[in-house]
Amino acid sequence: MSGPKIAGVKGMNDLLPPQIETWQFIEGIARSLFGRYGFAEIRTPIVEHTELFVRSVGEVTDIVGKEMYTFNDKGDRSITMRPEGTAPAARAYIEHGVANTEPLTRWFYTGPMFRYERMQTGRYRQFYQLGAEAYGSLDAAQDVEVISLCAEFFKQVGVPDVVLHLNSLGDASTRPAYLEALKAHFAPLVEVMSADAKLAFERNTMRLLDSKEEALQAAIKTAPAIIDFLDEGSKKHFDDVQRLLTKLGIGFELDRRLVRGLDYYTRTTFEFIYQPKSGESSLGRAGTVCGGGRYDRLVHELGGPEKPAVGFAMGLDRLVMLLDSLKSVPRSAPTLFVGTFDGPERDDAIALVMALRNEGFHVDFDPRGGKLNKQKERASKVNAAWFAAYGDAEHKARTLKIDNMRLAKDAPREQLDVSFDALRAWLNGASKGSS
Ligand code: ATP
Ligand code: MG
Repeated sequence: MSGPKIAGVKGMNDLLPPQIETWQFIEGIARSLFGRYGFAEIRTPIVEHTELFVRSVGEVTDIVGKEMYTFNDKGDRSITMRPEGTAPAARAYIEHGVANTEPLTRWFYTGPMFRYERMQTGRYRQFYQLGAEAYGSLDAAQDVEVISLCAEFFKQVGVPDVVLHLNSLGDASTRPAYLEALKAHFAPLVEVMSADAKLAFERNTMRLLDSKEEALQAAIKTAPAIIDFLDEGSKKHFDDVQRLLTKLGIGFELDRRLVRGLDYYTRTTFEFIYQPKSGESSLGRAGTVCGGGRYDRLVHELGGPEKPAVGFAMGLDRLVMLLDSLKSVPRSAPTLFVGTFDGPERDDAIALVMALRNEGFHVDFDPRGGKLNKQKERASKVNAAWFAAYGDAEHKARTLKIDNMRLAKDAPREQLDVSFDALRAWLNGASKGSS
C-alpha cells in the first residue's frame, strides 16, 4: 500500500535534469572566470549564530526584521540559516586571522541562501547566490575589478541587456547631514506611515527610499539624494570608479535612488538589472540579478581589523531563468549508444560500454535490454549522436556498424564500419563534433 504523497517545502525548489545543466554551465563559467580574476572559493556553513546577521545586515532591514529562518538548537543557541553570504565570509575572514597572513584577499562562494519571503517569479525561500568579496584595498581599482568581473561574467554566460546601476553612499562623515535632510523631508508623512515605515523613519531612515508603500511614493521620488552630500574623499573615489569603468568600456547608469537593502554598505553601491531593449522582462519585477558594493566598516564592526572590502552577490535562480528564456544551453548527450541482444555476447557489449566510459567517452546503453527498436528509441530520447547494435555478428567480426542518429529527416542512412581496434580513435573525433 502506498502512503500519502509529501510535497516539498513551499518556496524551495528541486533542481532537476535537464535544467540542472544550465546551473552547471553557469557555475563552470564562474569557476574559470573568477579564478582568472584571482578569486579563490570558500565554503562556509549554512547556519551561523543569529547575532552575526543582526549586527551586520542590520536590525531594521527586511532581511533581519522579517525574513530570517531562526531557531534555537538543542543547546538553546539562537541559530539562523544564512540569508546572505557577506557576513559569513567576513566572520570566517576574521576568525581565521586571514588578514595576518595576507594583506589582500579575494574570495568567492556559491550556495543556497534562505529568506522567508512572499514568493513570486524569481523570489524563493531557498535560493542560490554566487558572490565575491575582496578585502584589503580602499582603491577604486578594487571596486572596478569586482564590477568588471560581474560584467564579464554576464557577457560570457550570454545574457545581454543587463544594465549596471551605480551610486555612492559616501561614508560615516556623509551620513549625519544627509540623514538630517532625509528626516526633514519625510517628517510631514509620519502620520500616514505604517508601523514598519515609522520604525524605519526613526531608526534607519534610508530604508524608506526602498519602501513600497503607496503613501510614500511621491516623497521618495523627490527625496534628497545622498550623492549630493558626498564628502571630498567619497566624491574623489566615486569619480575614480567612473573614470576606470569608462576606460574599461563598461557602461553604467548613475542611479541616485539606489540604496541597498543591507546596512553595511559605504561608498560605491551597484546593481545589475535586466532591462531588455525591446519587450517585457521575463523576470518581471525581480529583474535585479546582482547587487553589491563597498563595505569598509563591516570587518572592524564584527571584531576584526580595519579592513576595507568590496563585494557582490548574484541571484543564480534569476540568471538561470533568464538564460533558459534567451537561449538553449547545450545539454550533454552520449556520443555513442550501444544496442544489445539477449544472447551470450551481451556481457561483452556491456563490458565494452563500461570500458569506454572509464576511458573518458560518453557512451550509453539500455540496462533494461529488450527489443532493439525500443533501445534505439531510448538512444534518440537521450539524443545520442550515433547508434550501434552489438550482436553475435559484430562480436565475431570485431567491428561495429555505427548509425548516424542526427541526420536531417529525409537524408539517406549514414552507416560506418568501425573496427574495435579503431573505436577509440573514432570516438575521439566523433565526440568533438557531437556533444
Ligand atoms: P530584492 O530587492 O530583489 O529583494 P535584495 O536587495 O533583497 O533584492 P540582495 O540581498 O542584494 O537582494 O541579494 C543579491 C541578489 O540575490 C539579488 O539581486 C537577487 O538576484 C538575489 N535574490 C535575493 N533574494 C532572492 C530571493 N528571495 N529569491 C531569489 N533570488 C533572490
Ligand atoms: Mg529582498
